Amino acid sequence: MSLPLGYLPDTHYPDPRIERLDPRFTYKQGNAAIERIATGFRWAEGPVYFGDGGYLLFSDIPNNRIMRWLEEDGHLSPFRAPSNYSNGNTRDREGRLVSCEHDARRVTRTERDGRITVLIDRFEGKPLNAPNDVVVASDGAIWFTDPGYGIDGPYEGHKAQAELGRNVYRLDPRGDATIVADDFVRPNGLCFSPDEQKLYVVDSGVSHGGPAHIRVFAVDGARLRQGRVFADFTPGMTDGVRCDVDGNVWCSMGWGDPGEDGVRCHAPNGELIGKVHLPETCANLCFGGKKKDRLFMCASTSVYALYVNGQGA
Ligand code: MG
Repeated sequence: MSLPLGYLPDTHYPDPRIERLDPRFTYKQGNAAIERIATGFRWAEGPVYFGDGGYLLFSDIPNNRIMRWLEEDGHLSPFRAPSNYSNGNTRDREGRLVSCEHDARRVTRTERDGRITVLIDRFEGKPLNAPNDVVVASDGAIWFTDPGYGIDGPYEGHKAQAELGRNVYRLDPRGDATIVADDFVRPNGLCFSPDEQKLYVVDSGVSHGGPAHIRVFAVDGARLRQGRVFADFTPGMTDGVRCDVDGNVWCSMGWGDPGEDGVRCHAPNGELIGKVHLPETCANLCFGGKKKDRLFMCASTSVYALYVNGQGA
């Protein structure tokens, strides 16, 4: 059994760190506050919740491991180490873990017996850069981004030259990959709207002369069209995104004013309607818990959780 970490200093009900900017932000629970559920990581990313097992998995990239946090008693242990410096994680339609691996420069699936299947590591004969984040559509297609942060240096992978563009890919269930977007500086987090009619994709290229925004596309079968800026995060940046059942887009926030670190919630039309303030830069988030009403936030050295009056898509 792990020691409980629990609530932050100065916790007060209702938690003033949850900021309602618009009447549409109805997600604040009066008697729920931000909890730090785990800490001691170098860079936490890629959270994914397993409802059947009652645990959260997330990557601790520089420590080259995937961690597992059991919701029942807060027990924390390594799930996979080494993890090939994994980053984004998700589950496919059969519930299997799908992971982006920086160091091996590939997307993998973990089978029920624990074996690891490589889904893709090359495109047109060239190695992927370093896949970052991944989602699975209801038709089983795997959509992922390949910005290449894992080949920038040894801290989150290893130094290598990019041989491919910083693309967004779709891998169909037969294993054929296509580029669905090639005009990002650094494509990063991505998620579908609840009806899968829209795909939100982060461009975190600001430190490489690019933007710090989310673009939204219309999903046209296996293609994307009508890309436009959905929300801008300068002078900060976002990394990971998730939709709730109402179509709101929850985005990580950091790298700017420390007072803005945390999570932002945007209405489907892009308007900012609420904020969750954390004491650390937040990279990625997911919904989980037995009722999908618990927001898990990977923020630098810690993982935070918050019950919200809503549910993940
Ligand atoms: Mg990311």
